[in-house]
Amino acid sequence: MPADKRKFHIEVGILGATGTVGQQFAALLANHPWFRVTWLAASDRSAGKRYGELPWRLPTPCSTETARLSVEGLKPGVGPRLVFSALDASVAGDAEEEFAAAGHWVISNARNHRMDPLVPLLVPEINPEHLGLIPHQQKSKGWTGAIATNPNCSTVFLAMALAALRQFRPRRVLVTTLQALSGAGYPGLASLDAIANVIPFISGEEEKIETETRTILGRFVKDFVEPSSVVISAQTTRVPVIHGHTETVSVELEETVSHDDILAAFREFSGEPQRLKLPSAPAQPVVYLEGADRPQPRLDVEKFGGMATQVGRLRACPVLGHKFILLGHNTIRGAAGAALLNAELMSALSVIA
Ligand code: NAP
Repeated sequence: MPADKRKFHIEVGILGATGTVGQQFAALLANHPWFRVTWLAASDRSAGKRYGELPWRLPTPCSTETARLSVEGLKPGVGPRLVFSALDASVAGDAEEEFAAAGHWVISNARNHRMDPLVPLLVPEINPEHLGLIPHQQKSKGWTGAIATNPNCSTVFLAMALAALRQFRPRRVLVTTLQALSGAGYPGLASLDAIANVIPFISGEEEKIETETRTILGRFVKDFVEPSSVVISAQTTRVPVIHGHTETVSVELEETVSHDDILAAFREFSGEPQRLKLPSAPAQPVVYLEGADRPQPRLDVEKFGGMATQVGRLRACPVLGHKFILLGHNTIRGAAGAALLNAELMSALSVIA
C-alpha cells in the first residue's frame, strides 16, 4: 500500500527544539499526517519555559499546539519513543546515546554518530539498505532504541547528484561550497564578520563532505558499509546568504557519456521515498534548472519544499570532464527535512518497531 494512504499517529519529540534546526523541525512537523509533536527539550537556558514564549525565527508561525508545550531538559525515558535531534554537537554525542539506551529511536542531525560504522548515515533515495545496520547496532551496543543520522548540510546535495550519476561510475570530484549563514546555527557568525565578506574556512566541513559522501554511496555488505571508491576534494566557504548552500562541482566519470546522458540521469533519478510516496518526499530528488544563471539561493532555495537538489549549468570541464552548479536548502533537506524523511522511511518500512 502506498505510504501516504497509511494512517500513523506517532508521537514525536524534538531534542534541541529551540535552535535553527529545532525550529525547522517544529515547522515541518506542524500538520504532519503521521507524526505529532508532544515533547520538546533543550538546554537549562530554555527548560521550564513555554515554547511559544521563546524567540521564533522562522517566517511561518509556530503551530499553536506546539507553542503551548513546555520545554524540558534532556532527560531520557520521559518523552516519546521517536525523537528528532537538533542538538548542538557539544552535547549530542552522549545525549543521543543515553536516549537510545533508554529505548528511544533518535533520528539525528548532529555530526557525532555519523561516522560510527554501526549507525546508518541515511539518504532514503540513495542507501535505504544501510538501515540493515540497525539490528547490529542494537545488539552490539545493547540498546533497545537506536540512532540513525542524516548527512552534513552540504554533503547531502553532492551525494544526491553523484548518486544520480552512479551508473556512469564517478571517479574523482572537485567541489567548492558557498554556504549560507544559517548553516552555522543561531546566532552563528558575528554580523561584522559575515556582511560583504567570504569566510574561506568552516571547521571540519571539508573532511565531512569528503568522508560522508563516500559512506553514503557505499555498499552495505552484511553488517557493515564498504565506502565508495570515489575520490573527493572539497573546499568550503561561508557567504552572506541566509539560507541555501551553493556548490560548484567538477566530476570525472569512468564511462564516456554525453551532456544529454547526464541530464537524463538527473531527471530520471528516483528512489524509495518517491516509490513509497512518503509525505515529505520531493516528486523529483534532483531537479535540473535550464536558466544560464540558475540556481540562485534567493530565487530558488524555497522551491520544491526545500527538499530537492537543484542543479544547473551543466557543461564540459577541461580538467575532469563535466561540471555543474547545485543548490540545496541547508536547514530543510540539509537538516530537519532530511531527518523527517528518514523517520518517514523507517516508519513506512516498519524499521521503528
Ligand atoms: P543552534 O541553533 O545553535 O541550536 C542548538 C540547540 O541545541 C538549541 O536548541 C540549544 O538549546 C541546544 N543545546 C545547546 N547546548 C545544550 C545543552 N548543554 N543541553 C541541551 N541542549 C543544548 O544549532 P543548529 O544550527 O540548530 O544545529 C543543531 C544541530 O544540527 C547541530 O549538531 C548542527 O551541527 C546540526 N546541523 C545544522 C544544520 C544547519 O543548517 N544549521 C545543518 C545540518 C546539521 P538552547 O536554545 O536552550 O541553548
